Amino acid sequence: MNKMIKAQKGTKDILPVDAEQWQNLEFKALEVFSNAGFQEIRTPIFEATELFARGVGDTTDIVNKEMYTFEKSERSLTLRPENTAGVVRAYIENGMHRLSTPVKLWYKGPMFRYERPQAGRQRQFHQVGVEMFGIKEPAADAEVILLAVNYLKSIGLKDLDVEINSLGCPVCREAFRDNLRKVLKPELKNLCPDCQKRYETNPLRILDCKVKECKNILQKPEIQKIITSDYICEECREHFNDVQKYLDALNVKYKRNKLLVRGLDYYNRTVFEITSNNLGSQNAVCGGGRYDSLVKNLGGEDTPAVGWAMGMERLISLLPEVKSKKIKAYVVSNFTIEALKLTEELRSHGIITEFDMTNKKFTKQLEKASKVADFALILGEDELKNDSVSFKDLAGSKQETISRNEVFSRLN
Ligand code: ATP
Ligand code: MG
Repeated sequence: MNKMIKAQKGTKDILPVDAEQWQNLEFKALEVFSNAGFQEIRTPIFEATELFARGVGDTTDIVNKEMYTFEKSERSLTLRPENTAGVVRAYIENGMHRLSTPVKLWYKGPMFRYERPQAGRQRQFHQVGVEMFGIKEPAADAEVILLAVNYLKSIGLKDLDVEINSLGCPVCREAFRDNLRKVLKPELKNLCPDCQKRYETNPLRILDCKVKECKNILQKPEIQKIITSDYICEECREHFNDVQKYLDALNVKYKRNKLLVRGLDYYNRTVFEITSNNLGSQNAVCGGGRYDSLVKNLGGEDTPAVGWAMGMERLISLLPEVKSKKIKAYVVSNFTIEALKLTEELRSHGIITEFDMTNKKFTKQLEKASKVADFALILGEDELKNDSVSFKDLAGSKQETISRNEVFSRLN
């Protein structure tokens, strides 16, 4: 036998038994997002590497460690690790700022990150996400958070925690960053190697570190004093207060988490995450926030924006398995042409129908039928002569001969 080739580490086949679950998530996305005025956008799976270096930020783990980058015709290309940068590129390139504001977009599809595969963490995974362009007011932040909650409810997920924070604007964040550096300096050599780098490039990200020693250091009173200080400026605070006021009015439950900073460089002001307690350590199902400078950074007009992304594998792992749709009618016959014709007619009426292709004895065919279908339709010599069908309810054992015309009303 020839050597078998396996799927790559960190990638998974989505098999027919699971496809229905995926289709349901995608269908609900279309339904819930359309209802809120969001339109689907599909962007390419690979982009110029520079888009992510500039868009996601070259101090992030994603850009530094996790990208699938390759050369083709002397160009550096990268499989998208997330889709905000791609959607922003498409927004700018297609002059979407000329459309009426706000421009509300959603997407779904595969993302690629070179990470250590584990439960809830793959190298090819899928996200569904939304982006809203053109609104700086806090109503936009509240609307996208509400949309995330509504989407999660629509697929049957309710017991989730929404955590929010405000990172302030580049101005107020600068002062906070300086203060944080100051109080962390004496601890610098005790931080993990990643955080030692973060200290230089983006000290805020230390707040998000999962390493226990780093978490402990953050508990020190002098450091806590800085973390818990309300460092954001008056305008940023007003914005954040309004976001919370709107969420309260909409009955969206949330918690303020001052350690929430998110791993991407482009966020400012509102950031949020939705987590589940049933997912172990990879417990974030949704992450998002406001990114008012990204469109300009990537060469577009100054346009405020806010959005989020959800990991679809993590959503699916929280949902109960769905039982796959049963076949409604199973045609049992030794007359292939007649069986084909009846099957075709039933299918054209939207009835899920199969027919037995084996030409085996009726008892064998009926055995198979009772495993897969609700009803068996038997076409023997007598039935064909009389233009009738023997109709068998496979749940019970009732069988009766009915006219061809009656079949449809019975099955509907
Ligand atoms: P994490 O802290 O779990 O690494 P993240 O901050 O890197 O998450 P985002 O970039 O915010 O994640 O992506 C949004 C969502 O996409 C996450 O909340 C998660 O549900 C999902 N996600 C991210 N990376 C992966 C992955 N490697 N495999 C599966 N899902 C993922
Ligand atoms: Mg990550």
